[in-house]
Amino acid sequence: MPLVDMSDMLNHAYRNKYAVGGFDLVSLDFLEAILEAAEQCRSPVILSLAESHFEHYDFELALAATEQAARRARVPVAIHLDHGATLESAVRAINLGCNGVMVDTSNEAFSVNVARTRQVVETAHRCGITVEGELGYVAGLEGEDAERHPGEAVYTSVAEARAYAERTGVDCLAVSIGTVHGRMRGRPRLDFERLKRINSAVRLPLAIHGGTGLSEDQYRRLITAGVAKINYYTALADAAGQCIRENARADARCGYTGLVQSIRARIRAEVERCMHMWGSAGRAAEVLMQCRAWQPVQHVIIYNVESGAEPRVDAMMARGAETLAAIPGVRRVVTGWAVSEQPRFRYCWIVEFAHKDVIASYREHPEHLAFANRLFRPIAGDRISIDFAEVDYTAHNPVPDLGRRAQL
Ligand SMILES: [Zn+2]
Repeated sequence: MPLVDMSDMLNHAYRNKYAVGGFDLVSLDFLEAILEAAEQCRSPVILSLAESHFEHYDFELALAATEQAARRARVPVAIHLDHGATLESAVRAINLGCNGVMVDTSNEAFSVNVARTRQVVETAHRCGITVEGELGYVAGLEGEDAERHPGEAVYTSVAEARAYAERTGVDCLAVSIGTVHGRMRGRPRLDFERLKRINSAVRLPLAIHGGTGLSEDQYRRLITAGVAKINYYTALADAAGQCIRENARADARCGYTGLVQSIRARIRAEVERCMHMWGSAGRAAEVLMQCRAWQPVQHVIIYNVESGAEPRVDAMMARGAETLAAIPGVRRVVTGWAVSEQPRFRYCWIVEFAHKDVIASYREHPEHLAFANRLFRPIAGDRISIDFAEVDYTAHNPVPDLGRRAQL
């Protein structure tokens, strides 16, 4: 499965002086186009879903498709929540399948930004999830004319960046040095000196938001100064919009599929251009070899209950399914009964964890302990519990990588 640890992916780019694109997707056309481009360029890629876009699609459905597409890919992929506003957003994204989350409380006072980010980092790291924080304020809104959302751009301060990185423990830092979200008139002037000083102060992969519209030379200088992730959406949305307008002009009576035809090719061309420009093209094989594969873990329990406790099993399972699914890092809870007549064990739980690190945090989570100690363990003394790391032997990943499996 080509999902890889996002922090490993970003650090590979940071060490090797290139940048991975974090491309926001808003439909299947975007998802497929971005992945086709990555495959064509043999490039690592970050599939990014921005909370500000959730009014345009169902996050849960989009994420399911994104995860399936990532599993099918032959290039390394990370799945990222872009601009999550709260701890709850981060936990929801983790439990639905993101292996990286951005917490953006950069509009808050420094101390509040630090405290909220720290909270997300603690929770996410206990689940093995990478966290991107933001310091300074990049004005504008994804995919809109930046002038319509002017705000006050606040450049990231070097001293604050150092303190923020130390106190929060983020894995990647989005900085504000002159870019804006969305379109802007004219070329932005970027503060490269500030970026260099931030880079020496934090020594972390840096992210740039509002990547649309910069020149090749500007990108090159950003990457030289520590930028390893570039968020990119507006140019893709513009290419798609332009394509629809042309289709409408060519045939004023065309329906939906007529309007969106060729959209994927247009988005894909723009993504490929970026991958070449940012140096991520051709890096897929190294990243797959050097970065940890992303492996979910199945926590399996098979059990019997004391005689007389059978009538309570249904209620206990229902309660457990609800309680356990809300714990950070739990992807899914399956409960079941044996189908055969005289099974050695009658009941089972399968709790899917996002990552092996969840094993420890789940075990000590107060909600899990309360459920297990009060409702489950007292009636289920006869049980076996094992954690399995998933290994993907499907056609998409025919040769299991024993080296990477051994790291688990
Ligand atoms: Zn952004």
